[in-house]
Amino acid sequence: MLYRTMQKTGDRLSILGFGAMRLPQLDGKIDEARATRQIRHSIDQGVDYIDTAWGYHRGASEPFVGRALADGYREKVRLATKLPHWAVRSREDMDRFLAQQLERLRTDRIDYYLIHSLDGPGWQRMASLGVIDFLEKAKRDGRIVNRGFSFHGTKEDFGRIVDAYDWDFCQIQYNYLDEHSQAGREGLEYAAAKGLGVVVMEPLRGGKLASGLPPEVESIFGGAAVRRTPAEWALRWIWDHPGVTIVLSGMNDETHIEENLRIAGEAHPNSLTADELQVVGRAAQAYRGSMKIGCTGCQYCMPCPAGVDIQGCFDQYNQVHMPGNKRLTRFFYVVRMGGAMTGKASNASLCKECGNCAKACPQDLPIPDLLKDVSKEFEGFWFKPKVWFLRRGLAVQSWLAAHRPRR
Ligand code: SF4
Ligand code: SF4
Repeated sequence: MLYRTMQKTGDRLSILGFGAMRLPQLDGKIDEARATRQIRHSIDQGVDYIDTAWGYHRGASEPFVGRALADGYREKVRLATKLPHWAVRSREDMDRFLAQQLERLRTDRIDYYLIHSLDGPGWQRMASLGVIDFLEKAKRDGRIVNRGFSFHGTKEDFGRIVDAYDWDFCQIQYNYLDEHSQAGREGLEYAAAKGLGVVVMEPLRGGKLASGLPPEVESIFGGAAVRRTPAEWALRWIWDHPGVTIVLSGMNDETHIEENLRIAGEAHPNSLTADELQVVGRAAQAYRGSMKIGCTGCQYCMPCPAGVDIQGCFDQYNQVHMPGNKRLTRFFYVVRMGGAMTGKASNASLCKECGNCAKACPQDLPIPDLLKDVSKEFEGFWFKPKVWFLRRGLAVQSWLAAHRPRR
């Protein structure tokens, strides 16, 4: 196992982190015996960063991780979990959530605590509710050790959030297809230059970069001078970035775990040759070419005066036209574009057809027309009611979580 140092904290951490968001399941629940074996085996092989969140596995991940880290395993790892900001309604809620998370995880401290899935509006809301005061106090009294945030939003908002507080680390979606999406390479380098540790999530885009690749992409990897699986190409490309501290993998299959452990023992920063980088670059280009909308995620079209998250809309549209879980993509569209978490919608049908974005797009995409396709795909009659119900559901969940009697 290779290790990298988190700049601000000085912690030396395994470059592979175990993500507890896609654990093996049995009869619709976490297969505890198998998942425990997998986590403990990974720790025995050198993994020392475990990442979970309040909402993973519909609330079952944190209590499971607490049990899996019994028998001395808790002390061998740095534990990360996240505050579900969409369920927070007050400054007091933040303390209540954290208290329950400490209880669920059977620990007296969270080593790496993140505000979960922030974007620009989410950050503004949390800042106005007093999240900085919460983080300061929780750090001072030892309930949390390091403060960070995970992010899904635009590059500009990422920079704003990085600059807004003395964060220790951040977590971003990053892989060869998302080099210029969300925080992107620019955001990664910006955060690393400011001394933040960078944890990467979705290195394989939910498995889409590991299997079921478009034939053109398969043949590019197949024709490379070095023989590697698509997953290995994708992981090595991320670890090649010196600014990346940890790559999280939602591992749930023993063969994948062994493969990831092996790669994490070899993937030094700046170790890919120019030819190898070119292979991944060509694969990314071919992958994008096979997508419905050839948006590169550069975000030159942003900001939209009507509040449309253009690249986010195109991303969801491309996802839904690829093999995989379409229901989940539709759900994410309601959550993210509908603003179910933040109250600020950024969906395709908000477009007022001013045309400014299309003039700025280097790919010459007819953005307003394409947004109509996106809206047709995702925003039928039930779109607004779904957003409304989801917001109410989150409010109820938040109230229940905040007022559940402590044991
Ligand atoms: S055309 Fe639509 S999406 Fe593009 S900037 Fe104008 S309002 Fe926004
Ligand atoms: S400018 Fe064009 S390619 Fe860039 S993010 Fe916007 S739509 Fe995509």
